[in-house]
Amino acid sequence: MIRLSKSCLSDTEKQAVMGVLDRGFLGMGTEVQQFEDALTKFFGRPAVCVSTGTAALHLAFQVAGIGTGDEVLIQSLTYVASFQAISATGAKPIVCDVNPETFCLDIKDAEDRLTPRTKAVVPVHYAGGVGALNDIYAFAEKHGLRVIEDAAHAFGSRYKDKRIGSFGDVACFSFDGIKNITSGEGGCIVTDDQVLLDKARDARLLGVEKDTDNRFLGKRSWDFDVTAQGWRYHMSNIMAAIGLEQLKRFPELSAKRKSLAKLFDTQLSNVPGIELFSHNYDNVTPHIYVIKLQSGLNREKIREKLEQCGVQTGIHYKPNHHLSLYQDASKNLHETDEIYPRILSLPLHPDLSKKEIKYVCEKLIEAISGS
Ligand SMILES: *Cc1c(COP(=O)(O)O)cnc(C)c1O
Repeated sequence: MIRLSKSCLSDTEKQAVMGVLDRGFLGMGTEVQQFEDALTKFFGRPAVCVSTGTAALHLAFQVAGIGTGDEVLIQSLTYVASFQAISATGAKPIVCDVNPETFCLDIKDAEDRLTPRTKAVVPVHYAGGVGALNDIYAFAEKHGLRVIEDAAHAFGSRYKDKRIGSFGDVACFSFDGIKNITSGEGGCIVTDDQVLLDKARDARLLGVEKDTDNRFLGKRSWDFDVTAQGWRYHMSNIMAAIGLEQLKRFPELSAKRKSLAKLFDTQLSNVPGIELFSHNYDNVTPHIYVIKLQSGLNREKIREKLEQCGVQTGIHYKPNHHLSLYQDASKNLHETDEIYPRILSLPLHPDLSKKEIKYVCEKLIEAISGS
C-alpha cells in the first residue's frame, strides 16, 4: 500500500528517544528547552512548545484575549482543529470562503463578514502555500484585528523571502506525526509579542507562574501562584528529542517533499480532467499534494479504483460549515462548496520514491479515463 502520509523517522530519532528514556526525565526539561532554542534560531523569533498544534492555536487565541462574545474570521476549508481551538475559548468561528486559486482565505469575503465583535483573523496556510498574506495583514491592521496564522501545513515555507513565523503577529505550527517535521505529537507558538509569550509559557503549565524556568533547571515550583486559566499543554522531553532530530533533518525532508511535488506537477500537467495548483516549490514546503478533478468526475469511484491498486488518497477537508457543531445554513460559501467535491489528495511523504509517484500518476490517469 502506498500511504497517503507517514511519519518518516531515522535512527537518530530512535537514539534520541532512548537517551531520554535512559536519563529517566520524561517530562518538560532540557530537551524541550533545547528544541525551543533550536526553533527560536530557525525562526529568528521566540517559540513556545506545546503538546499539539491544536493546543498552540487554543493558547494563542486565549492569551491574545479572545473569548466569549468574540468572533474570529476563518476559512471553512481547514481541519476541524482550527475551529475547535477557537470555540474552546468561547469565541465564535465565522466561516469564510477561500480563493479558488490558492485555497487560502478570501479577503473580500472575510471583509463582508466583519462585525464590531470581530477580534481576529486566521489565515490557514493550506498545503504549505500562504496566498496573499500581505493583504490579510493590511486588512487586519485596518480593522484592528489580531492575526493568528494556522501554519500547521507551512513549517519551513517562505513568503517574499521570509520564513513563515519569522514575521507578522502570531504563527502556530503542528508537529503531529505527519507534518513537515514531527515530534510524535506537538506544536509551537511563534511570536515576538512578549506579553503573549509570557502568558503562553505559564498557561501551558496549568497557569503556574514561571514554572517554565524551574522545569528547564530540572526542578518544579512548589510555592506558586496562579492568576489565569491554564491547561496541561506542555511538551515532554520524549517529544522534544524527536523534534530536535527532525529539525536537523528538515533540509533533507523538505527537499524530498519539494522534489516529489514537482514530479507530480510534471507527470500530471496537461492531463485531461485534472487541474493543478501553481505552487512555487522554491518557497513552499508542501505538506499535502492536492489536485482538483474536473467537475462531473466521480471522485469516490476514482478513489476506490486507486485503493484497489494500493494507492491511498485523502480529502483535505470536509468544510467545517458542513459539520453539525459549526453549520450555519445562512452562509453562502460558493467557492468552498464548488471546490469541496473536486479535491483529491495524493500520497506525499519523504519516504516515497519517484517510482512510486510515477505509479500513482499512471493509476490516477487510468482511473480518470475509465470513470
Ligand atoms: C494538523 C493541523 C492542525 C492541528 O495540529 P495537531 O498537532 O494535529 O493538533 C491545525 N490546523 C491544521 C490545518 C492542521 O493540518
